[in-house]
Amino acid sequence: MFEKVLIANRGEIALRIHRACREMGIKTVAVHSTADTHAMNVRLADETVCIGPPPARDSYLNVAAILSAATITGADAIHPGLGFLAENADFAAAVEEHGFVFIGPAPEHIRLMGDKIAAKAAAARLGIPTVPGSSTVRDLAAAEPAADAIGYPILIKAAAGGGGRGMKIARSRAELAQMLPLAQREAEAFFGHGEVYLERFLERPRHIEVQILGDGQGGVVHLGERDCSLQRTHQKVIEETPSPALGPDERDRIGALAVGAMRELGYRSAGTLEFLYQDREFFFIEMNTRLQVEHPISEMVSGVDIVREQLRIADGAALGYRQAEIRLSGHAIECRINAESPDDFRPSPGRVTDYHAPGGLGVRVDSALYQGYVVPPFYDSLISKLVIHGRSRSECLMRLRRALEEYVIGGIETTIPLHQRLVDARAFIDGDYDIHWLERFVGRNR
Ligand code: ADP
Repeated sequence: MFEKVLIANRGEIALRIHRACREMGIKTVAVHSTADTHAMNVRLADETVCIGPPPARDSYLNVAAILSAATITGADAIHPGLGFLAENADFAAAVEEHGFVFIGPAPEHIRLMGDKIAAKAAAARLGIPTVPGSSTVRDLAAAEPAADAIGYPILIKAAAGGGGRGMKIARSRAELAQMLPLAQREAEAFFGHGEVYLERFLERPRHIEVQILGDGQGGVVHLGERDCSLQRTHQKVIEETPSPALGPDERDRIGALAVGAMRELGYRSAGTLEFLYQDREFFFIEMNTRLQVEHPISEMVSGVDIVREQLRIADGAALGYRQAEIRLSGHAIECRINAESPDDFRPSPGRVTDYHAPGGLGVRVDSALYQGYVVPPFYDSLISKLVIHGRSRSECLMRLRRALEEYVIGGIETTIPLHQRLVDARAFIDGDYDIHWLERFVGRNR
């Protein structure tokens, strides 16, 4: 097993990876920007290297600085975490070319799934149903017939998209003419190239995704699904597993499809296939070739430490267990807590004056916060993930309500009050929601 792993990330996910390394007796190297000198993952790491100033492009996205840090510290392997360089195939390849192990999938699989049009085509070839859509549309002359063939309403999406950015709905030809240049400009601004494609806009789907682990040697299992339908501006707010919308047959069906496809691909490491689910049908939208923010809920019901598995697989180990040996038990829910106003979602960085994390049976807090820590204004506003496990969904909800009430984060605004309103909302309690529900709920509660 590796002796030393460099963690090329920050915040709660860097700490999460550090914890897995520690349990396995692996030393950690924290790389950090000057804004994160006092971060908890940096304080706990065996070695630290400052790799640049606060802007991510000068630090967490600075490939040369990260590779130099790995060389100087004599790290064996690099874990990219999520976001930043985690889905950058060139980075994964560079890590390997410099003689380090990349803790993640093969670069060619990252590249394939990073191009959303190619990913959908690959999924279709592997026998997975996809959302009806087009290939790249360059201009209105190409978009109009494509949209007519798919049928309105249409969603315009960036081929290099991510984080729910750069999507536009068009309900008619006139709207398509209006929205296409906007979507292309946004894609250009966010992702560096303006390539877009069209998809049928589903009116009331759920977002259901399947967690996969593959060893690249023929071993592939899934850890069940996650329902991530509770979203704001296409970004996940609360996730739960199992999905209240699926029966055991549908779960087995989508799990088996995902496993079969990943086995055929020879996929290595953790990955997630994302689907929209409507009228009992699954439609693949994309695959994330990395650890996901919401991975802990799958860990809670399966007992599998996904980061430990990533480390073992990267070290060349086979999975060593089969699907039949994975037991999913109980129910888990994650609340993403952001340093934002719970009313208008304005970022709220600053000093945490008081901090008390909830505890007790079935309560897990993945966070790098502590009293006196200053949340920097430069990065994503996610500061904590409250993850609850219960034997049943109702026990899980009961515990979640109590844990939210107990959680104190003073000095900055957080989205805890929003989560408290959500866990008391009838539709959430009944599990009766689609991907558009939360947006309407937030609008009503303004
Ligand atoms: P990103 O890579 O930006 O996260 P995704 O393709 O994963 O983009 O989509 C993000 C979210 O946008 C989905 O979870 C869903 O809420 C919404 N979405 C994506 N495609 C569609 C579609 N065809 N119809 C309706 N909603 C969609």
